[in-house]
Amino acid sequence: MSLTGRHVLSSDLFGRDELERLFTLADLLTPVSRGRKVTRVLEGAVMASLFFEASTRTRLSCESAFLRLGGGVISSTGVEIMSIAKGESLADTSRVVSGYCDLIVMRHPLESAVHEFAAATNVPVINGGNGAGEHPTQALLDMFTLHREFSRTGRTLDGRRIALVGDLRHGRTVHSLMKLVTRYENLTIVCVAPEPLGMPVGLLELAESRGHRVQVSEQPETGLKDADLVYATRLQTERFADQPLPYSDAFRIDKALVSRVCREDAVIMHPLPRDSRAASNDLSTDLDEDPRLAIFRQTDAGIPMRMALFASVLGVADTIADSLRPAAWYRPDYTGPHDAPFYRNVGTNNR
Ligand code: ASP
Repeated sequence: MSLTGRHVLSSDLFGRDELERLFTLADLLTPVSRGRKVTRVLEGAVMASLFFEASTRTRLSCESAFLRLGGGVISSTGVEIMSIAKGESLADTSRVVSGYCDLIVMRHPLESAVHEFAAATNVPVINGGNGAGEHPTQALLDMFTLHREFSRTGRTLDGRRIALVGDLRHGRTVHSLMKLVTRYENLTIVCVAPEPLGMPVGLLELAESRGHRVQVSEQPETGLKDADLVYATRLQTERFADQPLPYSDAFRIDKALVSRVCREDAVIMHPLPRDSRAASNDLSTDLDEDPRLAIFRQTDAGIPMRMALFASVLGVADTIADSLRPAAWYRPDYTGPHDAPFYRNVGTNNR
C-alpha cells in the first residue's frame, strides 16, 4: 500500500509491511535528525501545524522533522487565536488552511474533529492526537523505539510480553499502540489499570482476534512481572472533569517497584509528559539513571520516524538515499547526561 497522499487519522492504516518500511526509512534519516547529514527532499513544501490542545513533543518534533526535510512550517496553537473563536466551522478552517500548505498536522480535544477536518480537504491531514481517541504518530515512534531497543538485545517484537500501565481508557497513545503491536505475532499483552480506567473492550477484542493472549490486571506489582516492555502512561486528568480518581500509589512506577518485579532486560517507555510532582503516581524520576528507561531514546526516535512518515505521505521517500550530504555545523555526540552508552557509535551509524 502506498502512503502517498493519504490522511493519517488512525494507526489502522499501518500493517507490518508498512511499519517495517518506515523503520528502514527512519534508520536512513536518523543522521539527519541528529544534525550529521542534510537532505532537502521537501524543499519548497509547507506544513501547517494546528494545535487546538496543549503539546510539546508532537508539535515541536513534527515541525523539526519537516524543517529537517527541507520544508517550511506555519503554525497556530490554541482555539482562542483562530477564527474558530469567531464561529468558523472546522470544515471552513480546513479548506482555507489547505490552500496555504501541502500537509496539515492537527490536534484537537474532540475525537471527531480531525475526521471533519480531513473530510474537507485533499491535502494530507495527520492526526496529532484527537481527544481520548488516537495518536498514530506517537505509536509509530513507539514501535520504532521498540524495534531498536529489542534489536539491540537480539530480540524481536514477536513473542514478547507487554505490560501497558496507567490510564488506558483515556490514554490515546495506548489505543494507537494496541493497533500496531498486535500486527506482530504471539504476544502476551497485560493491561494494568484500575477497572474504571481499563483498556476499551474493542481494543482487547482486537488483540484477541489477532491471536494474542490478553490479560487484565489491577495490580502493577503482578502485572509488570516478567514483561519485556513496560509502557507507563499518565493519568489523563484533563479528560476527567472533577470526578474522584480511582488511582493509588501502587501505580507509581519507581526504582523500588522496578527492582522488585521487572526483568533485567526490560524496556521501560512512556509517551510523556510524565507527572514528576512529588505526590503523583506516574513514572518516577528516580529511574532516570536506569538504562532500561528508554523515554529519551523514545523522544529522539520521534524525529526520524515523523520524517519517514512525511516523506512517504508526500511521495519523496525513494529520493532520500541519494539526497543525503554531510552537515557542516557542530553537534555534540549525545544530548543527555545518561545517553552515552546508547550513542557510542554516533560517528559511524549516527544512532
Ligand atoms: N503526549 C501524549 C498525548 O498527547 C501523552 C499524554 O499527554 O499523556 O496523548
